[in-house]
Amino acid sequence: MRYEGTVYRPPSEAGSLIIQLTIGCARNTCTFCNMYKDKKFRIRPLEEVVEDLEMARSYYSRIKVRRIFLADGDALIVKTEDLLYIIAKCKEIFPEVERISVYGAPKDILHKTPEELATLKAAGLDMVYMGLESGADEVLQAVKKGVTADEMIEAGKKVRAAGMILSMTVISGLGGKKLWREHALGSARVISAIKPEYVGFLTLMIEPGTEMYDQYNRGEIELLTPHEVLDETELFIRSVDAEGTMFRSNHASNYIPLGGTLNGERDKILGQIEISRRKSKFRPDVFRGI
Ligand code: SF4
Repeated sequence: MRYEGTVYRPPSEAGSLIIQLTIGCARNTCTFCNMYKDKKFRIRPLEEVVEDLEMARSYYSRIKVRRIFLADGDALIVKTEDLLYIIAKCKEIFPEVERISVYGAPKDILHKTPEELATLKAAGLDMVYMGLESGADEVLQAVKKGVTADEMIEAGKKVRAAGMILSMTVISGLGGKKLWREHALGSARVISAIKPEYVGFLTLMIEPGTEMYDQYNRGEIELLTPHEVLDETELFIRSVDAEGTMFRSNHASNYIPLGGTLNGERDKILGQIEISRRKSKFRPDVFRGI
């Protein structure tokens, strides 16, 4: 396989065939993110992508490929007709494929019409991963996400209306000590409005090479302690109303694993938080990772 630079995918795509439809992130402005800082964004020529699919087929000639993830950062920026072509090729070359998924940036979702999204779903695009990061406008602005909480809601609702599975991520601690309440309550508001199938919590890590790293070193950002992260998560869990949404906080960056289905398992999750608070046993920072 030929991959350009470091390739990222959601943890739940660990067993998927990863094909780069785009290189990098078209925005690349988020102050906390270093994923694609070394890449200049471009959409790959479609024939190259098809060559990759064919190469993968010959490599996995005896293995059934059930899932394909179209990387890099925001494959939904690609024109709908080109996406449809690539999805058709995925299905032609891997007739056994059961799920095709992408990262979807909110602005790219908003640029597509409901009909385009429905056509993509009908063609086989089953799942979209969308980074909410925070549902608080103050935080989104501070980290230069380039989108408002209301735009996130609109984008998330569009994906759900098209019948695609939506998985969203929130970053614990992203508002720092100053905005943790706004961050928790704003994120609960957005998730309640969208009710995605999945919401996953990561925990902020300050990565070298990011704008946030410099802000942190200048003392402009105060990180939450593990106990404060628990307080923030608790406020989110108590405030969110998203019946059926599966909540997970079991990423390598998290201090403790949490999980349950909202709203029914709210008390169970709150119980996990309380036990963790009392035990005070957190994953050491050296073992945390993105
Ligand atoms: S968080 Fe997402 S949108 Fe922001 S720079 Fe990273 S990949 Fe791009």
